[in-house]
Amino acid sequence: MSELPGIVITGASGRMGQMLVKTVLASGKARLVGCVERAGNPWVGLDVGQAMGGAALGVTVTDDPLEAFAKAQAVIDFTAPAATAEFAALAAQARAVHVIGTTGLEAEHHARIDAAARHAVVVQAGNMGLGINLLVGLTRKVAQALDADWDVEVIEAHHRMKVDAPSGTALMLGQAAAEGRGVSLQEARVSGRDGITGARERGTIGFSAIRGGDIVGEHDVLFAGDGERIILRHVATDRGIFARGALRAALWGQGQKPGRYDMMDVLGL
Ligand code: NAP
Repeated sequence: MSELPGIVITGASGRMGQMLVKTVLASGKARLVGCVERAGNPWVGLDVGQAMGGAALGVTVTDDPLEAFAKAQAVIDFTAPAATAEFAALAAQARAVHVIGTTGLEAEHHARIDAAARHAVVVQAGNMGLGINLLVGLTRKVAQALDADWDVEVIEAHHRMKVDAPSGTALMLGQAAAEGRGVSLQEARVSGRDGITGARERGTIGFSAIRGGDIVGEHDVLFAGDGERIILRHVATDRGIFARGALRAALWGQGQKPGRYDMMDVLGL
């Protein structure tokens, strides 16, 4: 019998990192072979199990990603854009599947990820959960069915520690609405209104962000017409959904051709 795929978790001390460590260990479908943090992080040099307050797992947190990636079949990465762009090149060098959950990626980061995806499998999604990816499909369908008399607004809420807005998921939903309408999101997008904004411009797609407390993630896509409204809503109550989706992507990526994929590919939606 062949060995289970080896997984490296980057940003292992983070909220998602810790959830990913637990998810991989509990899955019975993969082995945890490495954990990476940046130099200076207090977890570097510690056993990851003990750092999380439990029993030793025999995996020491390292600040040397290349050494860790060399042992891995997949790298699951929920960190920060600049780190993710670097990890993409290193994961491709190691021919490991790179699963990217990091949000807030800009064009320069995407360009470096695209370059890595010429040599290795990359799965990147602003939201790794099944439910949201279904909502993306529904949003595209509803936007296709309705004309621009219906105003589209994407409203999202997240915990107080989130550093980017709109959320990666909100942008996925906005992109789906734009595709359904056959317009460019870049041109239709309006984010965070304040002051004398003037009347709403027909055909725009608006984004609003709420930040507070420990909200895991809530997304509404509002289609507001005259005399009626349609609201498509997803509420995440547990980060485990993203971690399970990411692990599924890491396993799905084994044996795929090099290239860039998203969760729609993984889930076959
Ligand atoms: P977090 O708690 O701040 O964790 C981020 C972790 O990454 C920290 O441990 C941080 O270490 C580490 N890190 C940053 N730069 C690094 C580097 N150069 N090398 C190694 N590790 C590095 O944040 P989070 O809530 O887990 O979220 C992480 C990312 O995932 C965010 O972009 C978030 O939006 C995204 N996210 C995506 C999904 C999805 O489904 N796609 C779901 C949830 C979250 P330090 O503490 O040393 O900075």
